[in-house]
Amino acid sequence: STYVFQFSEGNKDQKDLLGGKGANLAEMVNMGLPVPPGFTISTEACKAYLANGHVPPSLRVEVTMALRATEDQIGRHFGADEEPLLLSVRSGAKFSMPGMMETVLNVGLNDRSVEGLAKFAGDERFAWDSYRRLIQMFGKTVLDIDGDLFADALDAQKAKAGVKSDPELTADDHKAVVAAYKAIVQEQSGADFPQDPRTQLDMAIEAVFNSWNTERARLYRRRERIPHDLGTAVNVMAMVFGNLGDTSGTGVCFTRDPSSGHSGVYGDYLSNAQGEDVVAGIRNTLPLADLEHLDPKSYAELRAAMRRLETHYRDLCDIEFTIERGKLWMLQTRVGKRTAAAAFRVATQLVDEHLITLDEAIGRVTGTQLTQLLFPHFDAASGAQPLAKGLGASPGAAVGEIAFDNAGAIARKQEGHSVILVRRETSPDDLPGMVASVGVLTARGGKTSHAAVVARGMGMCAVVGAEALKVDPVGKTVKVGKTTLTEGDIIAIDGATGEIFVGEVPVVDSPVMTYIAEGIDAAEAAVHGDAETLDLIRSVDRLLRYADGVRSLRVRANADTAEDAKRARDRGAQGIGLCRTEHQFLGERRQYVENVILAETDEEKQASLDALVPIQRQDFIELLGAMDGLPTTIRLIDPPLHEFLPDLTELSVKVALAEAKGEVDPHDLKLLAAVQRTHEANPMLGLRGVRLGLKIPGLFDLQIRAIAEATVHLLGEGKKPKPEIMVPLVGSVRELQIIRDRAEKILADVASTSGVELRIPIGCMIELPRAALTAGRIAEEAEFFSFGTNDLTQTTWGFSRDDVESAFFADYLESGVLTISPFETLDAFGVGSLVKMGVKSGRKTRPDIHIGVCGEHGGDPESIHFFHKAGLDYVSCSPFRVPVARLEAGRAAV
Ligand code: ADP
Ligand code: MG
Ligand code: MG
Repeated sequence: STYVFQFSEGNKDQKDLLGGKGANLAEMVNMGLPVPPGFTISTEACKAYLANGHVPPSLRVEVTMALRATEDQIGRHFGADEEPLLLSVRSGAKFSMPGMMETVLNVGLNDRSVEGLAKFAGDERFAWDSYRRLIQMFGKTVLDIDGDLFADALDAQKAKAGVKSDPELTADDHKAVVAAYKAIVQEQSGADFPQDPRTQLDMAIEAVFNSWNTERARLYRRRERIPHDLGTAVNVMAMVFGNLGDTSGTGVCFTRDPSSGHSGVYGDYLSNAQGEDVVAGIRNTLPLADLEHLDPKSYAELRAAMRRLETHYRDLCDIEFTIERGKLWMLQTRVGKRTAAAAFRVATQLVDEHLITLDEAIGRVTGTQLTQLLFPHFDAASGAQPLAKGLGASPGAAVGEIAFDNAGAIARKQEGHSVILVRRETSPDDLPGMVASVGVLTARGGKTSHAAVVARGMGMCAVVGAEALKVDPVGKTVKVGKTTLTEGDIIAIDGATGEIFVGEVPVVDSPVMTYIAEGIDAAEAAVHGDAETLDLIRSVDRLLRYADGVRSLRVRANADTAEDAKRARDRGAQGIGLCRTEHQFLGERRQYVENVILAETDEEKQASLDALVPIQRQDFIELLGAMDGLPTTIRLIDPPLHEFLPDLTELSVKVALAEAKGEVDPHDLKLLAAVQRTHEANPMLGLRGVRLGLKIPGLFDLQIRAIAEATVHLLGEGKKPKPEIMVPLVGSVRELQIIRDRAEKILADVASTSGVELRIPIGCMIELPRAALTAGRIAEEAEFFSFGTNDLTQTTWGFSRDDVESAFFADYLESGVLTISPFETLDAFGVGSLVKMGVKSGRKTRPDIHIGVCGEHGGDPESIHFFHKAGLDYVSCSPFRVPVARLEAGRAAV
């Protein structure tokens, strides 16, 4: 068949076609685990539906065939009057998007089959409860009716019956609710709730297809960088019932603790419940271990299945299961999401258990996760007393103002405040508020609740299930005992410990950061024997060192000062890939450059330039000294002149005001003339970089002289300075040639005066398309290249980074022109082609040319993988990202 596959036809590697859920269901069927029979409608069918606006005609036929096969396996008929087979219709995309898309349970019930189900189950209450759940879910997700209408009708019935909770409602109560629900459906959709089972099924399938494109699904995908064109599969599966009394129930479990990585029994179980009850956090769940007493046979079977799944996938799995009258059914599994700390610990634990190799282990952790571990947490020594405690569901230390809903969170974020979203529980509708927040806090739900799962996925801090909290989202207050907090009050939440504080709490460095910056001994000492943290530090150390051993990319840092250089070195930087010298001309030193620009005679100009040499020499002595023995690429001055002069408008106003009073400062007049003279409409494309170096030769010359003299000085101290001189914004080989000739003269001059031999490589940035296109020529003069991918992206796309991001990137992301900002992750297809071309033709001319990249992309995980493939020698990134780059470069190499 083309679009529909029995579970037994697929396997776990077919996620593109069957979606993650479908592929893993197929795998479990192949493993012989108890999965209710069913079939998967492929993502191809979804794509065809979304492209054409209707389902492909052959799909209906294929569904019929698959449905009959399912009926045959069970020996019951879909929606039949007697012993009806009911179905669940579930979404399932390639990448898990928890709670983002729709699921409809109990499909096939109608006014007649509900009676059949009652008789079959011997439980009338259960049958009518199932029927009302169907109408509610179907109404909400398929017919798009406001869910509150159903919730209100249910509440009304509870009030009428004088009961508090759903399970207390009788069969007759549920019958009344069904009648009320049908009226809602008729009123809101203008048609009766469909009685024909097949119509229900077909409509539910289409609803799942449509759910791929809901606002919240699109938002989630943008956030998680999931492409919009994958489509979702639909899993149609025989229903099993966890709500058939006390010997039934439903649960979720992990083969290891998804937050610490500990191996053991982790999960939540809810007896006499169906589907979403557990995940929604509506009723409080039991720890999975309690199932051992409730139902030892199912418990043993589940534990065995957990072990088999973990062995089979060789990774932490999460599982959804249901027990129907003592019979275990597996409804879902996947390689489970986990916290960053758990990722490192689980990976090394699995190595120790000989389930995976170290190569695989570094594939199981990401640079993004390592970044999360580097964040600070609350200072235990501050003595701050928690107001309450929930479950630490996703680590981090978040301090922010309380918001109770999407609108509040978004408004506060826009005002520039940090926000913590406080909810009773979250649902997919709360996603925009979560995105706008630094942390989320809920009163209900466990580690598998929606808030927990989504926050872990987004790497944001979350505390859930803080039952002491009484959240009133309408009145916008949260009460804990006698304390009442309102919107805008500041709280602090610790996503590792679950603690909640009122007001600001000081934060301290993470132990992993201590390890990165000061080494393993210092970090071990700092954690005072806390076994879990020790284990984490050792896991990070082991994997990071392994990555260092296997990577071919070297990692340098961008650093302008000796202090930054030292920091970078401590974090494992193997050199400096970019020292931006313009930073050394700002502040008080701006004056010197101003003097150079204002000088009226050549002698005056030369004097100003000469005055700068000792200052720059000192800068380089410090920098090269800090990087002793390691290569240090110094970029000659790059920015346009106006950055060293006062603002045109401000100065014009100042002069005009002074003129009015008749007391103009002649210096200001001179300055104004200079500002006007150097004014450019498009300075970033104007007189800067090598162009400035050619126009005012003395600027580059003084820097080159200072570098040479600093080198001589350090050599004299017995040190090993390794400077490299880098020329920015080269577009033509001739530009570089002129600078190079001059530089060689200066170097020779310093060498002969000092009597010290100097070997300082000269190279250039490749940051203009023309440079990449003519890299073969440029390599005749350049001993090294450094791709300046920020400017290269700007000039290749014709985007001004400072303007376009706020102007229209959001629209471009939404419409799919971009999947991510090309300034964040290298545009491998476009800008990347220029990089590859530059590498190839550069090496052709000069086989030993050394090639790196500096700029933001050097620390971006995805881009690092690209640079590895492109055959670069090194990446250079900010000191903070050095460990991330080391890890990712290792991952790229295995
Ligand atoms: P999600 O992807 O949001 O987890 P699922 O498709 O897994 O959504 O469905 C949600 C819940 O519905 C499941 O956790 C399970 O409890 C319930 N469910 C799904 N299929 C069945 C089924 N065949 N029988 C009983 N319950 C089911
Ligand atoms: Mg699920
Ligand atoms: Mg640049």
